[in-house]
Amino acid sequence: MSYQFKITKTQHSSLSNVDFNNIPFGKVFSDHMFVADFINGEWTNLEIVPVGKISVHPGNMAWHYGQAIFEGMKASRDAAGNALLFRPELHAKRLNASARRMCMPELPEDLFLQAIHTLVDMEKAWIPPAVGSALYIRPFMIAMDETIGVKASETYKFIIFVMPVGPYYSQPVNLLAQDTYVRAVVGGVGEAKTAGNYAASLLPATMARKEGYDQVMWLDGVHKKYIQEVGTMNIFFVVGDEVITPNLDGAILDGITRKCIIELLKDKGYKVVKRPITIDEIMKADTAGTLKEIFGSGTAAVIAPVGKLKYKDKVITLHPENYEVSSFAKNTINGIRNRTIEDKYGWIVPA
Ligand SMILES: *Cc1c(COP(=O)(O)O)cnc(C)c1O
Repeated sequence: MSYQFKITKTQHSSLSNVDFNNIPFGKVFSDHMFVADFINGEWTNLEIVPVGKISVHPGNMAWHYGQAIFEGMKASRDAAGNALLFRPELHAKRLNASARRMCMPELPEDLFLQAIHTLVDMEKAWIPPAVGSALYIRPFMIAMDETIGVKASETYKFIIFVMPVGPYYSQPVNLLAQDTYVRAVVGGVGEAKTAGNYAASLLPATMARKEGYDQVMWLDGVHKKYIQEVGTMNIFFVVGDEVITPNLDGAILDGITRKCIIELLKDKGYKVVKRPITIDEIMKADTAGTLKEIFGSGTAAVIAPVGKLKYKDKVITLHPENYEVSSFAKNTINGIRNRTIEDKYGWIVPA
C-alpha cells in the first residue's frame, strides 16, 4: 500500500551552516521531519514538515507515565553518492515489539518504511560524505492524551527526525560491572526500546564515570551474576576459539547489530554460542589466559572494543589493539554499509 504524505518544505534550509568535518554529536538536526498522529484508532495527518517545536499540554501522558518508545538507525552513502539504508524492516518490527509491550499502537510496517524512505530521500544532502559518517535516524512514538490517571493513552504522535553524525572514533571503552543497580529484569521492559530504561541507567552510569569508567556492564536483576549488556549496547566475548554472547532472555534488548555480527561470524566459520554467561566465568577466563576479546555492539558505534573491566575489587585489562574477531566484524559491517564490501546478505536497501 502507498500512503499520501502532505509535504511542506522549509524556506530556510540550515544545511549551509553545517561543517561536515566537525559535527557535534546529537546536536545537528536536518531541515525536515515526518509526523503522524494516532487518533480514533488510526494513523492520520501523515506529513513532512520543517523541523520545529511541537506544542504539548502539561497533562501529556508520556511525561507522567512514560509511554515513549524509539528506534535508532543509520543511512549511509556509497562511493557514487547513493543513499542506503541498513535493514530498515528490522527496525520497523522492533518498534512494533516495543509498542506492544508499552500498550501503544503499532505502526504498519509499510508506513514506517515509506516514511523513512521519503524523509531520507528528501534529506539526502544531509548524509555526510566521509567514510564512517552517517545520517542517524530517530523514529519515536509518544502518548498524547491530556489526562491524569494511569492508563494507556488513546492518542499518540509518531515522529522521525534525522541528524548527520561524524565517524565514531571508537576508543576502547572501560566497563564497570554494576552489582547494586540493575537495568532490567525478566518480565520487565528491558526488551523494549522505551525511554524509562535510559532514565534508570543514568545514576549507575554517573557513578561509573566518577570512578573513571565509560560505561556500565549490566548484570541480571535476580542473581546479579549473569552478564546482560553494556551501556546501550549488546555484548560479546571471545574465549578460546568461541565467540559467546548472552542469549536473549526477555530482559536484553534484541540488537540488530548483534544479529548481524552473529550471522557474519558464523558465516566466516567462527563458533558462535548464545547462552547465559556469568561475570565470574569471564574473570576466570582472564586469569586462565583464554579471554581474548570483549566488545559491545550497537548502531551508533557498530562495535566498541573493551579495554578494561572492573568487577568488585578486580580489574582486568584487555588488548583491543590485537582484537581480530571484532575488527573483522566491524570492517565487514562498515564495508557493507558503504558498499566497498559485497552485500551478500541483502542488508542494504537503496533509500
Ligand atoms: C538500541 C540498543 C542496543 C543496540 O541495538 P542495535 O539495534 O544494534 O542498535 C542494545 N542495547 C540497548 C539497551 C539498546 O537500547
